Amino acid sequence: MTQQEQAFPNTEQKTYGASAGQIPIVNLPTGNGPSVRSVNLHTPTTKGGTAEGKIQFREQKGPFQQLRSLLNSMLVLIFFIIPFINYQGRQAILFDVNEQQFHFFSLTLWPQDFTLLAWVFIAAAFGLFFITVFWGRVWCGFLCPQTAWTFMYVWIETRIEGSSNKRKLLDKAAWTSSKLIKRSSKHSLWALTALLTGCGFIGYFVPARELYLDIFTLSGSFWVSSWVWFFAICTYLNAGWMREQMCLHCCPYSRFQAVMFDGSTKTVTYDAARGESRGPRKRNQTTELGDCVDCNLCVDVCPTGIDIRNGLQYECINCGACVDACNQTMDQFGYQSNLISFISENELKGEAKPFWCSARFVSYGLALFTFIIVALIDLSSISETQFNILRDRQSLYREVGMAEIENTYQLRIRNKTKTMKRYQITLDNPQRFILMTPSVIQVSAAEQLEYPVTVKAKLVDLDHGREVLQFSIIDIAKPEQNVSQSSSFFSPST
Ligand code: SF4
Ligand code: SF4
Repeated sequence: MTQQEQAFPNTEQKTYGASAGQIPIVNLPTGNGPSVRSVNLHTPTTKGGTAEGKIQFREQKGPFQQLRSLLNSMLVLIFFIIPFINYQGRQAILFDVNEQQFHFFSLTLWPQDFTLLAWVFIAAAFGLFFITVFWGRVWCGFLCPQTAWTFMYVWIETRIEGSSNKRKLLDKAAWTSSKLIKRSSKHSLWALTALLTGCGFIGYFVPARELYLDIFTLSGSFWVSSWVWFFAICTYLNAGWMREQMCLHCCPYSRFQAVMFDGSTKTVTYDAARGESRGPRKRNQTTELGDCVDCNLCVDVCPTGIDIRNGLQYECINCGACVDACNQTMDQFGYQSNLISFISENELKGEAKPFWCSARFVSYGLALFTFIIVALIDLSSISETQFNILRDRQSLYREVGMAEIENTYQLRIRNKTKTMKRYQITLDNPQRFILMTPSVIQVSAAEQLEYPVTVKAKLVDLDHGREVLQFSIIDIAKPEQNVSQSSSFFSPST
């Protein structure tokens, strides 16, 4: 009999993809049994929830919660601090929508360079998949902004309204002045946090230092203020009201991450073989029962309101709160820790294989490595100068003086750096083609210069009709920074 069968003898068990080493999925009945909870998280019977259908989970302390708090705090701090970092007199990281530029310290990307961002995002996605194969949904539990902001909002709620039990009672209580004060304080602080978050986010798109002042003195432009308020409202609704509903119903990652799991994926798991049959008991009492004392703490602390003892569920964000809660109980009863733990299916069966034996781990690793290399190659090929040639549309050529032909062009030169540049314009065949316009030009920082040039050639030197002519733009201070483009030189056909 398998561990799941021992734990849930009356459930129908189907093992999907067992041959491929996938984790068995148990079909649970949705009755009102004492241990098996309904899949609907908002039934009034859920212990973590209230009659209003809101999950009021307990605050939990422990090593995983310390780690989560530390990572979440760092994430929030980094999010707010980055827009205030200056580099060479300007915001170090700024998506300048007006100028269509992305500044990243000394690097400035223009729309034509955005393939680099695409490679970076693809590499980041494969990085996430790569970690998921080994560590399951550790991103969701420890680093996802939705989790970080939700826990921040719950922290505020707990400081004002008290523990989860007090909050549940307050939910049911009649409206008194005390309830009104608590609720208005909580919502004011939530709203302030949301507004700061809106400013923090938009601070990546417009200069952040002025933004906060503009918003709080109501002197910001209409569009900037609208975007800040839009993101503030989204934050307030997401972290204050929707919370786990975002993970359950809106986040695509929670839906498809299961396909990345295999037998070696570490995920929060209840050791049913050890825990069942569960039941309450006194400390130090000798009993035939399993190690689960049915204290229900693992359910009370769960931010998504599930009971991990029912097996692997897509609602579980791997935050580790139930691991800390259960270890605390195990400690109190003098039992071995890790009845609930981050463990893989193979480890649970005593068949642990090295994680690098997983085909998914290797393939995602290779994909990650490939896209990092592609991004680095793309980065190294980004030029500091953008150069285009437009031919004069009025005339193909002009016949001048002593059987000579002139063609005119419009050179479009963009200096993508933050310093003024001097460029030398050269032609690939100076013996036959002569540049009639000054060949040294100056382009200010981030400026695009439209520069008309005339090229002359003797008729006798030309293969009549059309010839390819290559222009090069060389940065005089850094000759290795040069760009070339070809155009056509027209002359009368013979
Ligand atoms: S089951 Fe445990 S790890 Fe999963 S979301 Fe709930 S508390 Fe977090
Ligand atoms: S916290 Fe541990 S002992 Fe308590 S109900 Fe959950 S699994 Fe059982």
